[in-house]
Amino acid sequence: MDLDLTPEARAFLDGVERFARDRVAPAAASIDETAAFPRALVTEAASLGLMGVTIPEAYGGAGQDYVTYALAVEAIARASATVAVILVAHNSLVAEPILQFGTEAQRDAWLQPLATGAFVGAFALTEESAGSDAAHQKTVARLDATGYVLNGRKIWVSNGEVADVVLALAATQPVSDGRAIGAFLVPRDAPGLTRGPVLDSLGVRGLGCVDLTLADVRVDADGLLGGPGQGLHVAMWALEGCRIAIAAQALGIGSAALDEALAHARTRKQFGQPIANFQAIQFMIADIATEIEAARMLTLKAADAKTRQPRVLLEASMAKLHASEAAHHAADKALQVLGAAGYKRGATAERLFRDARVTEIYPGTSEVQRMVIAETILGKR
Ligand SMILES: Cc1cc2nc3c(=O)[nH]c(=O)nc-3n(C[C@H](O)[C@H](O)[C@H](O)COP(=O)(O)OP(=O)(O)OC[C@H]3O[C@@H](n4cnc5c(N)ncnc54)[C@H](O)[C@@H]3O)c2cc1C
Repeated sequence: MDLDLTPEARAFLDGVERFARDRVAPAAASIDETAAFPRALVTEAASLGLMGVTIPEAYGGAGQDYVTYALAVEAIARASATVAVILVAHNSLVAEPILQFGTEAQRDAWLQPLATGAFVGAFALTEESAGSDAAHQKTVARLDATGYVLNGRKIWVSNGEVADVVLALAATQPVSDGRAIGAFLVPRDAPGLTRGPVLDSLGVRGLGCVDLTLADVRVDADGLLGGPGQGLHVAMWALEGCRIAIAAQALGIGSAALDEALAHARTRKQFGQPIANFQAIQFMIADIATEIEAARMLTLKAADAKTRQPRVLLEASMAKLHASEAAHHAADKALQVLGAAGYKRGATAERLFRDARVTEIYPGTSEVQRMVIAETILGKR
């Protein structure tokens, strides 16, 4: 497949691939083991343009297109799924919606520091009772004479531990159905914003995931992104890009699993020969490689569509659904190829197996992606 990348995109990706190989991959096991947010690596990533991949250079970004962004995320995820999701949450869920929906004043205030990595962004949609049913927001934003006052609790906020700005969703009318939702830019030091302890998780450990409490947090009217009642539209638009990027993250994890399986199959000998000679092992490798390749086609197709179309709901959901399930199968089969060597705590295959799993859950589960795909095809959306 000829991606027809520009020389600038190729040079950008060469830098990203070098960074992934030389700096991220050697740190991946320790990020997983300590579950500590890799602040220094994120700063280095920013110096390569990875904190504003699709943000125009005028705002300090790398000015790349979505295909290049997807390829960059894949390269980073191949080295560390955690570093990849930190970048994805920041780029797709905070910087990109500010570029898309921000006023000139909001872009001036937030985009430059986000795109250059001076600021880290986080996105807070999920609540205890608003998971797949994201519109069911219980966090409330009450309008008074000087702006909005936010009250509520957000859970599973990636980058939340270190974020300088949180894009938080809240219902602007406290009624149960048809409530209008706003998207609010909440600065780190806003009085009343508190962070819970870092959440422990099976995989992507070190992404600084926390719960956030908003207690009478004041946001002036210029902190409302996209206008009154547009919050869900802002969030859904951002999630389309994020799903493509998470498909790319899944591709990176799946490709790394294939690398592990190949290396082990070639060197591990049983019954007097490399296990790569056994057809059972060959078939697992064939399945992994084929599923990953199919996922790559869907992911690049969705990324290309994102560059050309205003909305990519169907393409993004198909890519995310298939790539996440392909990554899960790849990591599972790679572990099987490695046998006990892959099951050992600290083995790369074991980490990939844990990291792959969450791509079927965030942002939006596989069941939600199937609902979106079916409803779109059936003309119900
Ligand atoms: C590591 C991690 C990082 C995250 N980062 C963020 C973040 O930065 N910001 C943020 O806002 N959120 C974040 N999330 C939350 C994530 O987006 C949600 O977990 C996800 O949307 C699913 O919601 P839920 O976990 O509440 O599952 P639920 O909605 O409770 O679903 C539980 C099960 O029911 C199924 N289900 C639900 N509704 C239906 C239906 N109508 N039909 C069929 N099946 C259904 C689901 O598919 C799932 O299998 C993160 C989650 C994780 C694990």
